[in-house]
Amino acid sequence: MSRLDQQKIDHLSGLMDERWVREFSEIRSLLADLGEERQRVALGERAADSSDEALLDTLSAVDEALIRQNLQDVRDIVAARRRIAAGTYGDCTDCGGEIAYERLLAYPTAKRCIDCQREHERRKAGGAA
Ligand SMILES: [Zn+2]
Repeated sequence: MSRLDQQKIDHLSGLMDERWVREFSEIRSLLADLGEERQRVALGERAADSSDEALLDTLSAVDEALIRQNLQDVRDIVAARRRIAAGTYGDCTDCGGEIAYERLLAYPTAKRCIDCQREHERRKAGGAA
């Protein structure tokens, strides 16, 4: 069971709503930029030599990585809202312990307590990061 009172949950939920709006406006502007870039290429404004194409690939990869991050944030918010509905919000998904309110204020979508998050990142660091 969550140990957060309703007032705190409402506050954190509000923070997530603000972030939700921000993420979608970022996604929209990234998609618009990406669309314009592709349009320019389609219209032949960029010489279709290999170096330009390589540049475009790079730009696309960067933009798509950014969008992926935005989408991940949005998914985290969806998951956090589900946990609120289920009454498990604020509980660490790994150890079941309480996630500090201060941590949730900084990261409203946090699903792990700080100890489990550090452990998770240590394990993950072996791979990509
Ligand atoms: Zn934990």
